Amino acid sequence: MIDLHLHTTASDGRSTPEALVREAAAAGIAILAVTDHDTVAGVRAARAAAATLAIEVVTGIEITAVHDGRDVHVLGYFIDDEDPDLLAFLRAQRADRERRVTEIAARLAAAGTPIDVAPILAGARESRGRAVGRPQVAAALVAAGHAVDISDAFDRFLSPGRPAFVERRGSSPSDVIDRIARAGGVSSLAHPGKTGIDDEIQTLMASGLHAVEAFHPDHTPEDTARYAELASRFGLLVTGGSDYHGPGSGRSDALGRIGLPEPAYRILIERRSSGGDRS
Ligand code: AMP
Ligand code: ZN
Ligand code: FE
Ligand code: FE
Repeated sequence: MIDLHLHTTASDGRSTPEALVREAAAAGIAILAVTDHDTVAGVRAARAAAATLAIEVVTGIEITAVHDGRDVHVLGYFIDDEDPDLLAFLRAQRADRERRVTEIAARLAAAGTPIDVAPILAGARESRGRAVGRPQVAAALVAAGHAVDISDAFDRFLSPGRPAFVERRGSSPSDVIDRIARAGGVSSLAHPGKTGIDDEIQTLMASGLHAVEAFHPDHTPEDTARYAELASRFGLLVTGGSDYHGPGSGRSDALGRIGLPEPAYRILIERRSSGGDRS
């Protein structure tokens, strides 16, 4: 099994990079990509942990862009995780995440449903390179007894239109795609069936988009077939993975079940060797 979409404690996953590699191995995964939100802080530890097992770790990332006020997740693979421009960009992304979590916490306090935000922000300190976000706030709301579970916390406090929703600031998907290419990577539009910007895909291709994530747990079999067909019609590559966030995250059951078929992975590897150039 090949799984190109996994999160660790470097962002909102619940498994450390070491635990993630163990869990993936137990689920029969031979090649995995660590794709944390706006950070590559988990990749090295995962690779080190995989060294003794027969597991290959692909350097990956899931960057949050903004289009028409909505989040658009762009995956990047085979990036140079020491590229100074990319690292500076990711630092700015994480700084905005801290700003947003701080504002969300202030709104929650004003609404009479305070959370302990200090441990979340401590995790965001640059030395640790962690990306914070609403899932950690949701967990704190549950811990404080203000919500019964993560999804309740989102529904009542954190989703657009709810009292503690704070707008994100960020780059356009085109800018993010370009940054991934300049760091030597292959870009893929994450879970397009969930993001709902199919009308933009050709524009994103003009900006250099290489792939779409056809295989994802939130896709129906029809979604997967539609994106695979779209990819072949437009000359895009296909990626896929479980979007695993660790045990108890509510997003754990696709591990070992949803992944990228081997032939599609081979084609991705070829593209990588040709420098991510689409033509
Ligand atoms: P953030 O990066 O802070 O905007 O948080 C976004 C993350 O929260 C996404 O990766 C989603 O997986 C997760 N998320 C968004 N909406 C919900 C929801 N209604 N229930 C649970 N998780 C959610
Ligand atoms: Zn996540
Ligand atoms: Fe995502
Ligand atoms: Fe994800």
